Amino acid sequence: MSTTVGKVIRCKAAVAWEAGKPLVIEEVEVAPPQAMEVRVKIVVTALCHTDVYFWEAKGQTPVFPRIFGHEAAGIVESVGEGVTELKPGDHVLPVFTGECKECRHCKSEESNMCDLLRINTDRGVMLNDGKSRFSINGKPIYHFVGTSTFSQYSVIHVGCLAKINPAAPMDKVCILSCGVSTGLGATLNVAKPPKGSTVAIFGLGAVGLSAAEGARIAGASRIIGVDLNPKRFDEAKKFGVTEFVNPKDHHKPVQEVLAEMTDGGVDRSIECTGSVNAMISAFECVHDGWGVAVLVGVPNKDDAFKTHPMNFLNEKTLKGTFFGNYKPRTDLPNVVEMYMRKELELEKFITHEVCLSEINKAFDYMLKGESLRCIIRMDR
Ligand code: NAD
Ligand code: ZN
Repeated sequence: MSTTVGKVIRCKAAVAWEAGKPLVIEEVEVAPPQAMEVRVKIVVTALCHTDVYFWEAKGQTPVFPRIFGHEAAGIVESVGEGVTELKPGDHVLPVFTGECKECRHCKSEESNMCDLLRINTDRGVMLNDGKSRFSINGKPIYHFVGTSTFSQYSVIHVGCLAKINPAAPMDKVCILSCGVSTGLGATLNVAKPPKGSTVAIFGLGAVGLSAAEGARIAGASRIIGVDLNPKRFDEAKKFGVTEFVNPKDHHKPVQEVLAEMTDGGVDRSIECTGSVNAMISAFECVHDGWGVAVLVGVPNKDDAFKTHPMNFLNEKTLKGTFFGNYKPRTDLPNVVEMYMRKELELEKFITHEVCLSEINKAFDYMLKGESLRCIIRMDR
């Protein structure tokens, strides 16, 4: 048994002391896990837009000082009381939204929106006692979405950890813990394009390109990428996107452009932008009779979606999804296996790599729009 069990661990973490200010590498104290909690050695983490969004804290409740990070892979160091599904040495993916396996959502085959562990971006403490497990000289440092993976050790609720194949390379499968699974699941679990169909993807960031990867896996014959930034098109070719449309190149609405290109509309569309205009276009560009549009992007607080109800009467379907409809504990291990069987490619998403001491570089790459995913190795 490891000598750290039941003791406070001192390790390095990247602490956000204030909104929008560079993270500072600090020595933090990480308390042992309490009931239903697990202390995880984070091996590799990746930076996602959601970290940057809450670090900037423009318009949300600021919770500082805080340890961000939610896309990661790690190894269980020790477990708290009542944890039976995980043991020290198990490989895990932390997930920002959990699966308690007890609530109505967890018991429903149709939902992944757990009542107990659904994402909560305002809470900076653990559920068990309303306190943080991180501190510096006795002063608490807050958690982020229950994961806080920008620390060499983190304490996470057992319901937010997916146990994965120990043979899976953590520096690849870590990106399945948020963005890539979201886009992939939006296509495979929600849009479900039949083989040979035409799929439009709005927004070619990491989430949209994962949705394109899903369309490729499903056997779509045409994958049309829609983005306002033409730089995204080159990268998207690696993801099987076959045609591109930049709404800025056309005088008419992009849904009309797509309808002309596809004899009346695409079979499926997946919106991964967060722009409400793109959401409306993504819905209106699907074919009547059978077209399905899936919304993934997170809109602004005051946005409203406006479309003519006739579109629904004409049998266009509109859906939305949270985390690609994957149940984190039940389904993520299988997504890892898809990668292991080489059905799913992850390497092409990882454009940059840094170590923990250089974590601010990962923020720069993302803010400049240079990276799809920058992974951060936690041992240095
Ligand atoms: P990203 O910023 O890397 O990519 C978004 C892309 O959309 C950019 O290339 C941008 O140029 C393009 N775009 C913006 N407005 C557009 C418009 N009107 N028409 C066409 N293209 C447009 O972001 P990402 O990391 O890929 O995430 C995409 C979205 O998914 C975000 O809104 C994110 O918050 C959301 N998200 C949702 C979930 C969920 O569970 N539903 C989970 C993770 C992320
Ligand atoms: Zn639940």
